[in-house]
Amino acid sequence: MTETSEKIWLSSPHMGTTELMYVQEAFDTNWIAPLGPHVRAFETELKRLTGRYATSLSSGTAAIHLALIIAGVTNKDEVICQSFTFCGTSHPVLYLGATPIFVDSEEETWNMDPQLLEEAILDRIKLGKKPKAIIYVHLYGMPAKVEAIKAVAEKYEIFLIEDAAEAVGSSYMGQPAGSLGDISVLSFNGNKIITTGGGGALLSAKLDLVSKATFLATQARDHAPHYEHSEVGYNYRLSNVSAAIGRGQIDVLPERIRQRRDNYKFYQRELDGNPGIVFLPEPEGHFSNRWLTTVLIDAAKAEGVTREEVRLALARENIESRPMWKPMHLQPIYKGAPAYLNGVSEQLFENGLCLPSGSNLTLAQLERVVNGVKAVFNLVSKNT
Ligand SMILES: *Cc1c(COP(=O)(O)O)cnc(C)c1O
Repeated sequence: MTETSEKIWLSSPHMGTTELMYVQEAFDTNWIAPLGPHVRAFETELKRLTGRYATSLSSGTAAIHLALIIAGVTNKDEVICQSFTFCGTSHPVLYLGATPIFVDSEEETWNMDPQLLEEAILDRIKLGKKPKAIIYVHLYGMPAKVEAIKAVAEKYEIFLIEDAAEAVGSSYMGQPAGSLGDISVLSFNGNKIITTGGGGALLSAKLDLVSKATFLATQARDHAPHYEHSEVGYNYRLSNVSAAIGRGQIDVLPERIRQRRDNYKFYQRELDGNPGIVFLPEPEGHFSNRWLTTVLIDAAKAEGVTREEVRLALARENIESRPMWKPMHLQPIYKGAPAYLNGVSEQLFENGLCLPSGSNLTLAQLERVVNGVKAVFNLVSKNT
């Protein structure tokens, strides 16, 4: 390892040129508060991007929490949730004391398997209760099988929540991620494709649902000159300073998508000759922002090379890579939660690796990653 080689991060924030100008404007006008003109302008931008009404919030997790409350979920309810995801999707189900029911993924997009979803619903109904909501995800930016999932949700009349936290800028059959649920959720956390330094949004075609979310996010204050409360609320609004950063980031979103997609193309071109490294192509009509480039290390075809060997070899080169999300049905906190499984997400967790994918990676850095991966395979084939 070269001692001097600088760290290559998995996905680090990448500012454009206008963020500071918007932030300066917030300072100049003293709008340093969880409301203000940048918040409203940011929400207008999100509406332009998705065609949906939007309220900006302190995180994507907060947005999922409010979506579940608005769906009417209580501690007596069950909520169907994609198992292969980040915990921000599922933990809000527990905030409400409800029961998560996990559903496994299909192999073409790695997202919720629509057939298994229907089986799960039928089984829950047979056991006495229809699930109150479904949360599906576009993991790593790849849109799920939206049409089939929507059809199941409509058939059984179950509220559909779209977790598009990783998919800002992705689309399905030309329809933007963030417009594909009864309520949709975005995240602007620091590692996402664009960031507000921490933040999220809740979106819907129904203005009354979005207004309800804004109300709940501002401590559920009733209309009165004093502070009057007849419902429990939360302090979940995005600050005007954060929204200022978000406005600058929205300006560069098309560029960020192109850069991340170029990362994917570079890795695929450089590594695809190796039968042990499997990429995830876009099915017809699925446009991914390629938030993270993910590969499967197929040990059977990779002369015995495992995912962990690749990850550790990269780490020795000061390159951050990461196993894919550990499915929620395998997490200690969800032990005992009902789960409808087909083995797909467990396979992905075992063999899947997220490669450095920032839009600010240089060609030299991308080449370092590729050389790091190739070296593992070359070493093994030399030994055998
Ligand atoms: C990041 C993320 C969230 C949560 O967003 P935060 O803004 O970090 O709270 C939810 N779901 C998925 C799939 C995510 O990747």
